[in-house]
Amino acid sequence: MKNTLLEAKEELDSFLEKKVQRTNMTLWRVENGEKYKEANILFFRAFVRQVQTFLRSQAFEQMVKNPAFIENSKHIWTEADSNHVKRTVDLHIQPLKKFIEEGSIYNYFIYLAEVGGQSFIDNARKRTMKAAKIPAAASTSAIFVLKNPMYQRILGRKANLLITSVDNTTKQWLSNQIISGKAEGVATAEIVKTIQTKIPETFKYRADMIVRTETSNIVNQMENQTAQNNDATDKEWQVAGENVCDICDGNEGDVIGMDASFPSGDDLPPAHPNCKCYITYTVPPYIDFSNPKWTGQ
Ligand SMILES: [Zn+2]
Repeated sequence: MKNTLLEAKEELDSFLEKKVQRTNMTLWRVENGEKYKEANILFFRAFVRQVQTFLRSQAFEQMVKNPAFIENSKHIWTEADSNHVKRTVDLHIQPLKKFIEEGSIYNYFIYLAEVGGQSFIDNARKRTMKAAKIPAAASTSAIFVLKNPMYQRILGRKANLLITSVDNTTKQWLSNQIISGKAEGVATAEIVKTIQTKIPETFKYRADMIVRTETSNIVNQMENQTAQNNDATDKEWQVAGENVCDICDGNEGDVIGMDASFPSGDDLPPAHPNCKCYITYTVPPYIDFSNPKWTGQ
């Protein structure tokens, strides 16, 4: 009974894979899951709070008392005024780190790493069993749990780096909003209002872009690491997603060594933001994927 159900599930899986060909099922599942949504919301909220805190800060209040900000003062906006805005934003906007818990991003990264590791094990198992003409339901797969301290440390550093690296873009965006408004002679209160109106769309887009790209990055990297630690010998680029671009299209077709780069120069997907491509790995026939060598421990 159990086997019949499992077989039916595997059949359905392979039917779905054929039917929705060119869909990266691993990413698709992540992107439709709760944890992905939560990570998106985390970034979005942190961005909003970061900018709101600055707009309500004393530094901002001080800045707009400057003659250049006073309406009808006949002051012509200068390069020096623009630089003053940039400096104020630079110095006084608090880092995103203050508004987002690093641990929550780290936990999301661990989850992604486990999805990547599991994806390698499951796919390699399916392929080896298929090659040996054994029905996939005939054995259970190993469970990948990332307990290895070295990889945990790497992911911690990545989470930290991501949170710090986005600050410059936020500063630039905010400075530009203020500077371009003032240069066009818009009243300060109007500029603040415009910024408030733009915040939801701007940061929803940014949170989505960051989480989407980072998700594909971590999943692919840990999948590749698991492949290497389990003696995979070769890799092959599979294009996926809607409107596959020329960059990715050119990567498909060759089976290359684990250390080699694809024609685009990438070792792994994503080749660009929103890239949904994935890799299939060649594994030696002696490896038993119901009990692989490395499962993240
Ligand atoms: Zn791609």
